[in-house]
Amino acid sequence: MNDVVLKELCLADGLSGYEKEVTRVMKKYMAPCVDEIRYDNLGSLVAYKKGSEPLKVLLTGHVDEIGMVVRSIDEKGYVHPHQLGTLFAHSLGAQEVTLTTREGKKLKGIIGTHAKDPQFQLNKDTIPVQDQIVDFGVYSKKDLEDLGVRIGDPITPSGYYQELNHPDFVAAKAWDDRVGAGLVVETAMALKDVKVAPDVYFAGTVQEEVGLRGAKTVGQMVEPDISIALDVYPCNDTTNDPKGEYALGKGCTICLADTSSIAHTGLVQYLEELCEKHGIAYQETMISRGGTDSGELHRVGKGSVNVSIAIPNRYVHTQRSIINRQDYQSALSLLVEFLKDINLEKLQALLASKQ
Ligand SMILES: [Zn+2]
Repeated sequence: MNDVVLKELCLADGLSGYEKEVTRVMKKYMAPCVDEIRYDNLGSLVAYKKGSEPLKVLLTGHVDEIGMVVRSIDEKGYVHPHQLGTLFAHSLGAQEVTLTTREGKKLKGIIGTHAKDPQFQLNKDTIPVQDQIVDFGVYSKKDLEDLGVRIGDPITPSGYYQELNHPDFVAAKAWDDRVGAGLVVETAMALKDVKVAPDVYFAGTVQEEVGLRGAKTVGQMVEPDISIALDVYPCNDTTNDPKGEYALGKGCTICLADTSSIAHTGLVQYLEELCEKHGIAYQETMISRGGTDSGELHRVGKGSVNVSIAIPNRYVHTQRSIINRQDYQSALSLLVEFLKDINLEKLQALLASKQ
C-alpha cells in the first residue's frame, strides 16, 4: 500500500458531482503508466493500457465521497446543508468540515450540535441532517459571502489520514472509496512495464454514492467483457455485532451478492483459484443493504462478466473509518495476478460456464 498515493487521494475533497481534485490525483500517478487518459462527459477518468488480445477488462474505483452542499445561509451566518449520499446524522455533531468555494478557497467549519426542538430527548433523538447547521465562525451572512461562499458549494469532512497503533490499521476520511481509487492507481503502476493480454481500462467513476451514475456512463463508453468494481464493504467485527465473522485483517473480499448485483459465479471461482495459487488471503461475503458500481457495470450491453472486490471497512460512511493494510495488499496482489493471467481463451471459458 503506497501511503503517498493513498494519503493524497484521501485528503482530496471530492463530493459527488465535484470530483475533479480526486481524478487529478489519479491522473498524476497513472499517466506515466498507461497509453492514454480519457474522460466520460460526467468527469469520470478512464486510463487505457493496450493489450495484445481482443478483450476488454475494466477496473473501477469511485472517486466521489458523501457530504453536503450549502442549501442556504441565514442572517447569523450559519449554513444549512443539503446532503448528497447517505450520511449518518448521529455521527456528524461537532465534526470538522471543509467547504470549497467556486474559486477553490478552503474554509474550515464545525457541524453544530444544537438541539433546537424543546421536545428533543438528549441522547435518544438524532437531529436529521437537513436540520443540522454548519458553523464557520463568522458574524453574519455577509461575512460568508465576502469569503466567496455561495449556495451549492460542497462541504466534506476535513482531511485526515492516520496510521493507528498497530501499523496495519489506518484511519482516514473517505476510505469509501479512495480505497478503490488507490487500487486502480496502484494496479496501473504495478503493471507499468508488464505486457498483458487484455486492453485494460483503469477508471475513477463519479457519482457512485448518489446512484452509480459514473459507472453507467463509463460502462457504456468501454463496453467491457469483464468488469471489476473496487470498493469498501462494511465489516461486522466490532463488539456490537455478535456475528463478527467478516473482519479486518483476514484478506480482501470477494463480494458474492448485494442489493445491486450478483457476482458471476465463473469469475468468482477463477479469482479464488488465483488466490489459492498465489497464497493471497481472501474472504467471501454478501450484504443485504448497499451495493457498488457493479450494479451498473454487469448489465452494460449484452452483459459484462462482473464481480466486486472489496476491502472490509469499520465505521463506513463516517468521517473516520478504518481499513487494514494487509487486506488492501491482498486485493492489489489479486488484481495484478488476474490481469497477468486473463486472456481471450479464459474469457471464453468464463462465458461458456454459464451456457
Ligand atoms: Zn463506495
